[in-house]
Parts: sequence; C-alpha cells; structure tokens
Amino acid sequence: MAYKINPSTSLPGLPVAKARAGRGNAERCRSIKRRKTKSIKIGNISIGGNHPILIQSMVKAPTKNIKTVLKQINGLENAGCEIIRVAVKDKQDAKAISKIKRHIRIPIVADIHFNYKFALEAIDSGVDKIRLNPGNIFKKDQIKEVAKKVKEKDIPIRVGVNSGSLRQKYSRSNNPEVALIEQARDYIRILKDFGIDKIVISLKSSNIGETINAYRKISKLYNYPLHLGVTATGLFYDGIVKSSLGIGLLLLEGIGDTIRVSLLEDPLQEIRVAKNILSSLGIRRFGPDYICCPTCGRCEVDLRKKARELALKLENLNHKISGDLTIALMGCMVNGPGEAKNADIGIAFGKKKGILFKKGRIIDTIDQDCCVDMLVSKIKMGV
Ligand code: SF4
Repeated sequence: MAYKINPSTSLPGLPVAKARAGRGNAERCRSIKRRKTKSIKIGNISIGGNHPILIQSMVKAPTKNIKTVLKQINGLENAGCEIIRVAVKDKQDAKAISKIKRHIRIPIVADIHFNYKFALEAIDSGVDKIRLNPGNIFKKDQIKEVAKKVKEKDIPIRVGVNSGSLRQKYSRSNNPEVALIEQARDYIRILKDFGIDKIVISLKSSNIGETINAYRKISKLYNYPLHLGVTATGLFYDGIVKSSLGIGLLLLEGIGDTIRVSLLEDPLQEIRVAKNILSSLGIRRFGPDYICCPTCGRCEVDLRKKARELALKLENLNHKISGDLTIALMGCMVNGPGEAKNADIGIAFGKKKGILFKKGRIIDTIDQDCCVDMLVSKIKMGV
C-alpha cells in the first residue's frame, strides 16, 4: 500500500518549502470543473475567474507591532502565502497598515469587527481589501460610509459571515446553514444597494458539514469569488483534518477561489497544510510529489529518516526541480517498484541494498547508504 505526500512540507520538522509554484502553475486537475466566478482584483493580484486558487493566512500578532508583523508576513510570503489578513481593532492598527504595506509584496486585508470607523481608517491607510463581519457591523448608515470609501478607492469587501457571531435574528434559525446564508444575503443586498459589486464571500463554521453545505448553497446564488475556510478548528491535528475535509471537499466540487487553513499554530503551518490540500487534489504543485509507503514488517530501513534526508537535500538544492516530478521511497524490494510504478524515479530498499527504478522499471542496484545521494544526482540530471 502506498500513500502520497507532497511536498517536503509534509514531513514534520522540516523547513517550509519555498514558494516554487508560479501563479500560472495551477488548475492541473482536469477532473475538477471550477465554478465560474467574477474576477476581482486585490492589490496586485486577482482572484476568481480563471485565476489560481490562492493561499491566504492571518497574522497572529497585534497589527500595531509592526516589526513582529513584518517578520511574520515576510516569513509567510517566502513560504507561499499569497494574501495576508491582519486584525484591526483600533486606530493604531489601522494606521500601521500603510507602514506594513511598504515592506511586503502580497496584498493585505483588514479584518474589521464591531467598529466601522476602523474600516474607514484602514482604507485610508491603503489596505487592499476589507473584511467586514455582518454579525457585528450591521447598521445601514455605517455600511453606507464604508461602501462610499471602498468605492472611492476601488477595493473589494469580503462579507465574512461566521457561525460564532451571527446576529440574533439569524442565529434563532434551526438550520445553521440557512442562518449563515441568510445573513450573507441580507448584507450583500445592502452592499449592492450602495453600488458595491466587488464582493468576496465567506461562510465559516466550526462544523464541517455546515460549512460545506453553506458554501454549496451560496455558490449557486452568486458568482462572487468564495473564500473558503473552516473556523475554530481546535488542536493541531484536528485542525488539519477538519480544514482538509472542509476545504478539500469543496475544492473537489469546483467551489472556492481562495483558501485559509485556520490552525492554532504558527501560521507557517497553515501554509504547509494549504499547499498540501491544493497539491493533493492536483490543483497546484509546489514542488516534487513524494510517494512513500507507510512501512511494515518487511521494511529493513529507517524509511522515515531516508525520506526526511531526501526532502532536506532537495529542499536545499541550488537547482530547480520540476514541480511535475514524482519521487518514490519504498520500504521493500518485493512490493516497492510495483506499488510506486507511477513515480518518475524511486528507490525500493532492501537489506543493505536499494534498487533504483524509473516508472516501475528497475535500472540499478546500489548500497543502501548511497541511495539518497544517487537519487538526488539523478534528479539533478533531470531523471
Ligand atoms: S515495506 Fe513493502 S510491503 Fe511493507 S508497506 Fe512498504 S512497500 Fe508495502
């Protein structure tokens, strides 16, 4: 039995893979029919339409702590984050955005709750997009003021509905999905009345089923881009599983234009998981794809150690590796080459030896200690 991991980012303890995929390196999975949406510009990028599904994350520090925020954003950019969101909970946070923008390359989104005036300040600071929570900014005259400024600056608004902060009139509904949708619909109606059409929608719940159903339904009602995410996902592994299921199932149905994996962890982990979701579905590739068996009693090598060694060596290679490459590391010679026959190149380990194979065809037998280096040199030579 073989399972796929991708890329080295999947291996615990390894550095996050550098963002290798160009934005054009997307939409590889032919079986997924992407839902048609409007294309919306956020700063120097576009989402929706035929644009790749982009990875978003959120800074986990007060926005006014500019030095810390920049360190986080720069790290996230290098890891592959394509849109960043910051919390704006006072004037200082809003004003910090103009300084932060000077030192980052990706668009920045202001996350606004409760006080619409912070949205106005953030827009004045040059923010690229506003996320409003309809659960706590709902007075029409306040929305009107934000809408006026958004139009002046020609930036989009995300209607960010969250199951944890629904207004009472919606939260009374017995059907949580309907509540999420109704709140979004009423808000979008108001925004449209004020002439706003650059809209992105998110309907996040901590319940995967509710999240999926809500997105499915809203995707039939509007052609605005959808930002996907499951919220408040719990502890680390719970978060990975819930996000992968919630976001992954929707992406498989062609729903979703940006994704955010919410984890109670360093945000770099969010990027790792997001990249893995996209690459596992064949939507985008960020480096080579690895096929490794889980090992069993037939295995006579520390395969995990070998896999980590290989991933690290490839990661630190000053050499561009094709993102289309599939590499196998298998724990035994009897089943390895056959089970990984789709790999472009691979090693199946035996006692003290390893066999090198290409597309399931054995081409060499080498000492176990030399296997990883041999694989690296073949990959450098283009396999
Ligand atoms: S060691 Fe061999 S039989 Fe066992 S899981 Fe790996 S490939 Fe399969």
